[in-house]
Amino acid sequence: MLVLGALLGGLGIVWGSQILSSSPEPYLAPQPTSSARIPRVGLVAGHLGHDSGAVCADGLTEVKVNTAIAREVARRLEDLGYQVDLLEEFDQRLNGYRAAALLSIHADSCEYINDQATGFKVARAQADTVPEQSDRLVACLISAYQQRTGLRFHANSITYDMTDYHAFREIDPRTPAAIIETGFLYLDRRILTEGRERVVEGIVEGLRCFLEGQ
Ligand SMILES: [Zn+2]
Repeated sequence: MLVLGALLGGLGIVWGSQILSSSPEPYLAPQPTSSARIPRVGLVAGHLGHDSGAVCADGLTEVKVNTAIAREVARRLEDLGYQVDLLEEFDQRLNGYRAAALLSIHADSCEYINDQATGFKVARAQADTVPEQSDRLVACLISAYQQRTGLRFHANSITYDMTDYHAFREIDPRTPAAIIETGFLYLDRRILTEGRERVVEGIVEGLRCFLEGQ
């Protein structure tokens, strides 16, 4: 919050007023912050550009749910001043992708499995090369997402598909990365669709916790 808040938000005003009060020169609007200094965040809309992912009996698809969430998270982050890349599942840009963080957004099965098939999961790569950073990203996401959505963290069913997720192997090894399964499309459908606001807030706050070091 401190670094980023100053970098993205208040600086122009603070600088402006300092220039005004300490210098006889005419006031000049501060130059926009160099884009190189604005943190970049990558969001993969799970399955986008590739397949439908999980499919519900009435035709609702995981890719549709993931994409709606990812777009809204991207919009919020851009409003906060971040540079955001909204990526497809097998986006060319994932090769060597370098950013402050990468998050892939997915959702779980739309089959009725049992009454335990509710809740979310977050994982980093098994073979992560910046595990401390990625662990912090994961911890931030779990905490914020749980708080915002009220969904429980479903640690028991984190699968190899998550920890060996293809994008983890493609990105620049210095990029902290995680994958979130936002909920189960069957039992958690309501919050993933009508209640998407809370889902989006949970992800945005989890990312900010990591990026701004809160
Ligand atoms: Zn998926």
